[in-house]
Amino acid sequence: MEVGKSSRCVKISLPDDSVVDILTPVIEEMEKWVQDDLHKPESGGYIVGYQHKGTYNISLDAVSHPYIMDERNRIRFNIKDPRHKIFLAKARRSQSYYMGAWHTHPQDVPVPSNIDWDDWNASLQMDTTGCQYIFFIIVGIMEWRIWVGNFTDGSIKECFECQKDLDGIYLGRKMEDEK
Ligand SMILES: [Zn+2]
Repeated sequence: MEVGKSSRCVKISLPDDSVVDILTPVIEEMEKWVQDDLHKPESGGYIVGYQHKGTYNISLDAVSHPYIMDERNRIRFNIKDPRHKIFLAKARRSQSYYMGAWHTHPQDVPVPSNIDWDDWNASLQMDTTGCQYIFFIIVGIMEWRIWVGNFTDGSIKECFECQKDLDGIYLGRKMEDEK
């Protein structure tokens, strides 16, 4: 997914064929923190969202961003500031729940580090979210990527945007079936 070109919700298809909608406020907030300058440190935060009861589709609707007490340098971001927890508590009051975490990388196209894999596997062991998945987003300079941890089988896999037609409109399940 290209950074700076997503003015609206991005749809990602999940292993069970449901869809996760990444809503515009999430994308807009993450884009503010792209490491497009040699001096910019890593950034990140939590992701919150909710699951739709009928369709099992998931919406990710907000993210927290770096605060003063977080540990940050060029290649590392550690959530330390209590405001991230306050963000989660506030979101919960409007039925939006912890769904994972995001951070930036100073790479054009982000590739998870060994530390990322260790962190993600630890989160998959210890965390619970508002659904059967946990989401990890890395925002690079040119592109961002999403990996999805599955609590059911313990896997973490990269997931990709749903198919679009030539006008950039997402193809519905029905239209895909007709091909
Ligand atoms: Zn990383």
